Parts: sequence; structure tokens; C-alpha cells
Amino acid sequence: MESKNKILKEAHDKLFKHSTNNYIFIYTPPKVGSTTLMTSFRISMGKSYNILHIHDEVMMAVLTNIHNVTIMELIQFIANQNKKVFVIDVYRTPIERKMSEFFEKIGVLHFNNTYENVAKFSVKKTTERFNYVFPYLGQGDHYFDKYLIDEPCAFDFDKKYTVQEINNVKFIKLRLCDSSEWASILSKIMYTKVVIIVDYQTIDKKIGDLYNQFKKEYKIPSNFLSLISECKYFNFYYSASERHKYLKSWESKISGEFTHYTPAEYAFYMKISLENQYYDMIQSNHYIDNGCFCKCCIKKRRDIYFKALNGTYANEKIIHEESVNEHNAQISKKNEDMVHVINAINKKHKTAHNPPQKMKMMAN
Ligand SMILES: [Zn+2]
Repeated sequence: MESKNKILKEAHDKLFKHSTNNYIFIYTPPKVGSTTLMTSFRISMGKSYNILHIHDEVMMAVLTNIHNVTIMELIQFIANQNKKVFVIDVYRTPIERKMSEFFEKIGVLHFNNTYENVAKFSVKKTTERFNYVFPYLGQGDHYFDKYLIDEPCAFDFDKKYTVQEINNVKFIKLRLCDSSEWASILSKIMYTKVVIIVDYQTIDKKIGDLYNQFKKEYKIPSNFLSLISECKYFNFYYSASERHKYLKSWESKISGEFTHYTPAEYAFYMKISLENQYYDMIQSNHYIDNGCFCKCCIKKRRDIYFKALNGTYANEKIIHEESVNEHNAQISKKNEDMVHVINAINKKHKTAHNPPQKMKMMAN
């Protein structure tokens, strides 16, 4: 037990840098809007919270180089020390989540090719592959599968969120479809004025065009729509009328039945795809807020926070080098202004001590 706590302490120290008693774990599956939450909390909370955006234990092992602890063990370890801990998950509608997940890995996993080449593929070709793997994409729900909660409380369709407190951990469930209300929801739950900065991992620009075309043209096989309507999570997080509306919107974009891969075929598909995997995921400047706490980035963060509060925020990013450049430019502008002021003062003094000849004469 003691050695386990030692490892958990080590993991904690590697993941969290701020000396605060407040923690937020954005512990969700990928492609559900969690990047927006990460950036929003960084901008809104600054150093007052330790914030972690994480999807699974593989990611934790990469971040900490520690392999034998789970994220839930770390969460409980922190909560047991009487710290304030929020754990947040987001529900996203299934078809959109599947599409997003598929396109993020379309090059590196599904076609083992560069984004440049995949961007030249037809919608027909990408649709076919998407359909073969459809049931296996974007599966699972962290609230049910990972949080070790015996009985998740029913989703509150009026308030548009739920908070369930267990062993000093506050578990929050949100839905991506309510993201326009997240600022007020989270401000209420956290007693802090939270601003929402919409941030999502931008898909490579070249793929972006294909993705947009795909979203516009995709027609869902009728048997897939039945799969969705039976989905446990869809039925849990969407009310009867919301489900009706969602399914109806897809019924107008329906195609004939499609035979997707069987579980065994999919397992084989994944085995070969992973063996063939050649290209790495390239992600640079992943978040709008890079999480740097140098004085230049802190200043930039405050600027963005107040702009977001006033509704004047427009796509600015916190990138350390840029924050520093901006800061230096402001300093040299200030210095320049100061030089102008000093020059003006000197000029005035000069004039006062050495009045022009004409004035001297008049004074005499
Ligand atoms: Zn910085």
C-alpha cells in the first residue's frame, strides 16, 4: 500500500505543477469536445487549478513513464487528501463522434498514407471504409466504463448536466450539444466565472476539405441507424424527444443496408493496420492555450479571458514565442512613447529657460 501511494505521489508530481488544492480531470474519450474544456479551464482558472486532459492509461504512461497505476487510482489518491477534485466527461452524438474519430486517423491508421494523398481520395472510397468499421468507432462512455460508479445518476435534461459526488470526487457529465451553455453551467458548479473558448484539434487542412464534403454527402445505411437507436448511451443521455429529433434528421439522409466487418474481421483489420502503420500523428500547438506560465503568457491569458468575457475574443492563441514577441513589442512601444514624452519635456524646459529672442526682447 505504501509503495502504491509512493508511485501515485510520483505520478501526481509529474502531472501537476501548481501548488493548489483544486484539481480538474477532463477524463473523456477523444473527439467529444474535451479540447475546448481544457483551453477554457486554462484561460479561466490560471494557476488556481491543476488541470489534466486525459483519455486513457496509455496516455498517462506516456506523460509520466509510470505504467502500473490507473487514472481512477490517481483521482482517488488526490481526493483522499481532502483536495477539491472535479472529473468531467462529455457525451457526443454517436454518428458525429464516429466520423470525427475516423477522420482524425484516416491517414495514420485506416489508409496508412499521407494526408496529402488521402485528401485526393473520393468520398465514395472513404465512405465505404467508414461503413466497414462503423460499429467499432467511437464506442464507450467514460462515465459508465471508467469512473467505477455503481449507478450513474440519470441525466438531467432540464439543467443539461449532472453532478454526482462520490468519495469526495465530484463527477460532472456534460453534452457537446449543450456547449453554448457550458459557461453558465460550469460557472455555477465551480463557483468561478468560467469562459468557454471553442478549441478543437484542427484536422489537417487538406483532409479538412474531404471531411467537410464527406459530412455533407454521407448517407447512413438503414441498419446502422437501427444500431444507433438501440445504443445504451444514446438512450441514456438523450431524452425521448431529443432522440426522435436526432434520428429524424438522419432519416432524410439514409441509404441501403451495409454489411460491416464482423468483430473477428475488425480485429484482423486492426491487427494489419497497426502492423502497417508508418506515419506518425503530427500535432503542433495542440491547444489554443499552451499552458505556459511565464509572465508573458500569463498576461496574454488574462487578455484573452477578459476578451472572452466581453465577447470580443477572436481566435488568438497563447504560443510562448508569440507572447514573448508581443510583450517585447509592447515594451519597446512603451519605451518609444517614453522617449517621445521625455523629448517633449526637454523641449519645453529648453523653451522655458531660453525663451525665443522675440519674447526676451518683449520682456525687456
Ligand atoms: Zn510563455
